[in-house]
Amino acid sequence: MNNPAQQSELRFAIIGGGMAGILSAIKLNNAGYSNYTIYEKADSLGGTWRENTYPGIACDVPSHFYCYDFEPNPDWSYACSPGPEILDYFNNVAKKYGVLEKTRFGSEVSKLEFIDNRWQLETKDGAKDTIDIVISASGVLHHPSFPDIDGLDTFAGTLFHTAEWDHSVPLAGKRIGIIGTGSSAIQIVGALADKAGKLVQFQRTAQWIMPRENPAYTDAEKDNFRANPDAMQAIRSEQAEMSEGGFSAAVVGENPAALAAIEALTLSNLEDNVKDPILREKLRPDYTAACKRLIMSPNYYDAIQHPNAQLVTEDITAIEPTGVRTADGELHEFDILVIATGFKVDQFMRPIEVIGQNGITLEQAWVDRPSAYLSVSVPGFPNLALLNGPNGPVGNFSLIDVADIQLDYFLQLVESVRDGQCAAFSAKAAAAESAETERVEATKNTVWVSGCKSWYLDDRGVPAVWPWSMGKFRDVMTKPDMDDYDLAS
Ligand code: NAP
Repeated sequence: MNNPAQQSELRFAIIGGGMAGILSAIKLNNAGYSNYTIYEKADSLGGTWRENTYPGIACDVPSHFYCYDFEPNPDWSYACSPGPEILDYFNNVAKKYGVLEKTRFGSEVSKLEFIDNRWQLETKDGAKDTIDIVISASGVLHHPSFPDIDGLDTFAGTLFHTAEWDHSVPLAGKRIGIIGTGSSAIQIVGALADKAGKLVQFQRTAQWIMPRENPAYTDAEKDNFRANPDAMQAIRSEQAEMSEGGFSAAVVGENPAALAAIEALTLSNLEDNVKDPILREKLRPDYTAACKRLIMSPNYYDAIQHPNAQLVTEDITAIEPTGVRTADGELHEFDILVIATGFKVDQFMRPIEVIGQNGITLEQAWVDRPSAYLSVSVPGFPNLALLNGPNGPVGNFSLIDVADIQLDYFLQLVESVRDGQCAAFSAKAAAAESAETERVEATKNTVWVSGCKSWYLDDRGVPAVWPWSMGKFRDVMTKPDMDDYDLAS
């Protein structure tokens, strides 16, 4: 920190120009490191907010909480603002902090090889770079997952995944089918029920829905935020307390009263707001609220009760050129079929070919499943940080905070290279193993194993998630224990 000249000698690559990549660039700069490049495969920044543009997209984490703590935004239009506004926010911050100038667009990293304590980086288009420290900020929910349903490729209308929305296709008056009931599908149903000619949602598993009003901020409120930034900070602190003391403690078994409150709220939302008893029973989940990622919605129950909307709970048996066939033999015909079946969540840096110490590849290191010490450092892959990496805190809170905490932690490790204590560091295999054993044990206390299927669960059914409170995460990440790291000179 005290010797910018020395610091600037280290060369960094940041992979991905989304929320975490932009944050990485700003934090490197603040720490005095100026020799860095963001490698971004697309031609603009924004990550998930650039990719996901489906109707109704918003962040269900309140906007004054889902933003960088050093860049509060008095202009948020809603308590939970729409996706395009969030994308603008990240682009504006990136512009303000000179991040664009540090970004190589259209540059997809294809290979990283650790040779003589430095990473040799290659991009798909053949560019090469020699890097001291790599920060992977490539996102968690990045690679669309398509369902394995017979005939999926035979549909003759328009078919796309929620993360690949085709805006050239008009929606008004069309017959639209949506497969899935996750957070993405619920927002889409809320946005399209009154626009489609007919909207059919295919539900495999019902969801608990947390009622969440989404009021617009008035001009007077925005003026107040501008004049009095403490008012924004107060909202942020209140959200942090609710999310961390309440929600995050509830899901890891540390706040049963908060979990009971979530259950009561979601249940009364269903009982009070779905009038037709048959539909109500179809929408009633048979597992504990928050076992799957909790859905927050101001309008889903209204939307699914719209005269144009229909909920189908029969199993899908096939997709045919004109529509979706269900187990009762019915063919549901559509112009547009939306695949809202989520993401491959175990990819992280992949498909980048990453070759660490002793020629071991990340594929080999992760042959069973992805893992990283404290979700940041993979043994044998030195000078590499994974932001929002395997088994980290995910859920109904801000991943910005998570990335921020991880960067502060990782930059302390980088100081050991900067200060000449070592040329390379990575977590010790033994430290990673014992932390993982402890983590797996702790998952037994969480709501995620209370009897539902979700994308949180790995191939063994173990939640691939930080199983303690966010408070504990902050504590553990305050300062690295250097005894847990192999240092190479
Ligand atoms: P998701 O939560 O993984 O939901 C996928 C849906 O597809 C589930 O309802 C699943 O049913 C269904 N499905 C999968 N395969 C199927 C098949 N073969 N046949 C029928 N149904 C099938 O995906 P998502 O909605 O895209 O959300 C992913 C994550 O993105 C969220 O959990 C959240 O973390 C994030 N997200 C956040 C926001 C936000 O506002 N912050 C908004 C959108 C998304 P089952 O439940 O039966 O498996």
